[in-house]
Amino acid sequence: MSAALFSLMTLPYAPEALEPVISRETIEYHYGKHLQTYVDNLNKLVAGTEFEGMPLEEIVCKSQGGIFNNAGQILNHNLYFGQFSPVAVDNHTPKGAILDAINRDFGSFEAFQKEFEQKGVTLFGSGWVWLSADKDGKLVITQETNANNPITNGLKPLLTMDVWEHAYYIDYRNRRAAHLQALWQIINWEEIERRFAQ
Ligand code: MN
Repeated sequence: MSAALFSLMTLPYAPEALEPVISRETIEYHYGKHLQTYVDNLNKLVAGTEFEGMPLEEIVCKSQGGIFNNAGQILNHNLYFGQFSPVAVDNHTPKGAILDAINRDFGSFEAFQKEFEQKGVTLFGSGWVWLSADKDGKLVITQETNANNPITNGLKPLLTMDVWEHAYYIDYRNRRAAHLQALWQIINWEEIERRFAQ
């Protein structure tokens, strides 16, 4: 018997459902090829190691090198692709406890969005901008390079924007800022609030 393999997450929407913010073509490459490759690579790399059968979050906190890079990218993309819903769905503004925390820690939702976009635009090279909660529930925005995830610093990741060029180059070419600004139209704040409450 071999240990359970990692598998490609199931998208909670159809591949064209996020248009015009994210095209079907970007989903086909970003989810269908980039994320699939990270899954295939991790399954090959962990075979016969101490990491085989370990939960993804634990691998990210304990590994280095190729195993860390592929496990981190799977965790990051699972959170990324799991946080969207189509433009027409009425869940693109925060409510309840997550809105209260945003107002408390950033002043307003608009001030939070501005800081989040600015940290995404100014992250040099490939990486991710994150909204996370610390152990006391305080919200923080961090920039993480390459495959890093805030869980390695004891934070609970809630929302992320992928600033690797593969996330936006088909639809937005070099216009990273325009891409990040557009993503607010498809953020599923019910999912972000669920993560915050967990
Ligand atoms: Mn990506």
